[in-house]
Amino acid sequence: MPQQSPSGSAHSASSPGGSASAAGPKILDGKTLSRAVAGALAARVAALRAKVGRAPGLAVILVGDNPASQAYVASKQKFAKECGVETFDARLPAATSAAELRSVIEGFNADPAVDGILLQLPLPAPLDGSEFVRMIAPDKDADGLHPLNQGLLMQGTPAPRPCTPLGAMALLDLALSSVALTESTKLDEIPRASLAGKSAVVIGRSQLVGKPMGLLLLERNASVTFAHSKTADLPSVCRAADVLVAAVGVPNLVKREWVKPGAIVLDVGINRLPSGKLCGDVDYAGAAPVCAAITPVPGGVGPMTVAMLVSNTVENFVRRSGVQL
Ligand code: NAD
Repeated sequence: MPQQSPSGSAHSASSPGGSASAAGPKILDGKTLSRAVAGALAARVAALRAKVGRAPGLAVILVGDNPASQAYVASKQKFAKECGVETFDARLPAATSAAELRSVIEGFNADPAVDGILLQLPLPAPLDGSEFVRMIAPDKDADGLHPLNQGLLMQGTPAPRPCTPLGAMALLDLALSSVALTESTKLDEIPRASLAGKSAVVIGRSQLVGKPMGLLLLERNASVTFAHSKTADLPSVCRAADVLVAAVGVPNLVKREWVKPGAIVLDVGINRLPSGKLCGDVDYAGAAPVCAAITPVPGGVGPMTVAMLVSNTVENFVRRSGVQL
C-alpha cells in the first residue's frame, strides 16, 4: 500500500536496499546511500584531479588512543581513499601539549595540499576540543564545526555544514523520494525535499548535531521544535512531528507511542548496551511499524556522517581552488 509522506506525496514503503515492500516502513539504508555517495565523489575527484592537477587532501588528527576514536578515524580515512582523496595522518600521544597540537593544526592550515582538516573529538583532558576547532582555518574545516561556519549556517551562506546533520538530511531526502536505492543510484535522482507545511521535532540541542539539524530542517521550510532534557511532556511534543530526529544518547528513549503514525524518524543516537550491542535513541522494534520511514542503528546516520566529511573536503577543494566543475 502506498503511504502518505510528510510532503503530502504518495511514496511506496520499501525494505533495506530500496526494494518495495507493502508490509513495513521504508528502511533508510545509510550504508547503501553512503556507497552511492562514494561513487559520485570518486567520479568528481577524478575530474577535479584532471583539471587542477592534484586530488583534494584530508588531514586527520587523532590525539590519544581512544579505541572508538581510532575506529572512526580508520573508517573516515578508508572512505576518503576509496574516493581518491589524499589523506594525511597525524597521530599524537595522549600527553600532547596544547602548543604541540596547535603547531600541527597550523602546519595543516599552511599546507596547500590540504583542503579538509578533521580533529577527532573528544580530545584527552586537559585539551579542550572547541578551543582547537577554532584554530582550524575555516575554509579547511571538514566537520563544519568552526564557529565561523556555524555562523554561515545561521545566515544560510554556503560553507561546510556539520556532517551528521548533513547525512541525516540526505536520508530524509531519500525517505521522501521514490528512488529504489542501490549502490549505483545517481544522487541527482534523489530530489531535495521540501518540508513546507510540515512539523519537525529535534530531540537534542548540541552544537554537533541538534542545533545544526534544526537549522537544516528550517532551511527546507519545516516548522522546527527543539526538544531537550528540560522539555515538558516530551512524548506529546514528539507525537506532533512529521519528521522526528533523535540526537540524545539515551538508548531506546523514543517509544512507539511517541511517534505520529506515518512520521519519518531519523535516529542519530549511537549507544552501546551492556551486552556490547549498538542501539539508537529510538526503540526501533516498537516504533518502526508506525513510521513511514526510519533509520536503523547501526547502518543509518553513522555511515552518512563519514560520507559527508569526505564530501565537505571535496567541496572545500572546489571553493578553495575556484575551479568550475
Ligand atoms: P550531547 O550529549 O552533546 O547532547 C545530547 C542532547 O540530548 C542534549 O542537548 C540534551 O539536552 C538532550 N537530552 C539528554 N537527555 C535527554 C532526555 N532524557 N530527554 C530529552 N533530551 C535529552 O550529544 P550529541 O553529541 O548531540 O550526540 C547525541 C547522540 O548522537 C549520541 O548518542 C552520539 O553518540 C550520537 N552521535 C551520532 C553520530 C552519528 O554519526 N550517527 C554523530 C554524532 C553523535
